[in-house]
Amino acid sequence: MKRELEKIAEEIRVCTRCPLHLNRTNAVPGEGDPCSGVVFIGEAPGQSEDVQGRPFVGSAGQLLTQLLSSNGISRESVFITNVVKCRPPGNREPREEEIKACLPYLRRQLEAIKPRVIITLGRHSTRTVLGMHGRAVNSIMGVRGREFMVEESWGSLVVFPTLHPAAALYNPGMRSSLEDDFKRISRIIKGEETKGQKTLDSFFAKY
Ligand code: SF4
Repeated sequence: MKRELEKIAEEIRVCTRCPLHLNRTNAVPGEGDPCSGVVFIGEAPGQSEDVQGRPFVGSAGQLLTQLLSSNGISRESVFITNVVKCRPPGNREPREEEIKACLPYLRRQLEAIKPRVIITLGRHSTRTVLGMHGRAVNSIMGVRGREFMVEESWGSLVVFPTLHPAAALYNPGMRSSLEDDFKRISRIIKGEETKGQKTLDSFFAKY
């Protein structure tokens, strides 16, 4: 697994599949312990991540690390990556064609890790991951804080969407929602929460 992830990371570091490679300092493949079976997926690298080549090391990353540690999870014990592996200029949102070009890397990372839990951080990540299972997500607020069971080639797994930590930095009112979600995330990771799980079909049938 680790060998395959390093092979994917090497390909990402020299990738020219989309124009985001033109302005990057470093691509950011992801890091952490893939053996945990827990993957956090954000949107795209920011300035600090571009400089260091590591995910979630700026102010949003510090909040992520704090939210994890305050719930008894070290960031080194989970795998952290983004949908798009190179920084969009000026930290703009990634474009659809950039997400599409980069998606095969995320797919291959997930196929290598075979996670039992995926936490999607923010709208782009949630749309992309649930979209991989054929479902459209219009609003992160409509799905955050819910568990979705999805089927993959390696078995069933939980997808749990929450807000991107950067959203709580820009809008302190979202901080308590994020803190509540991370308490749930901790219980899900530790296998303490299974009630309230919804299948994708039963949830989306209502919308
Ligand atoms: S964002 Fe993804 S597809 Fe685009 S150049 Fe970087 S690694 Fe390649």
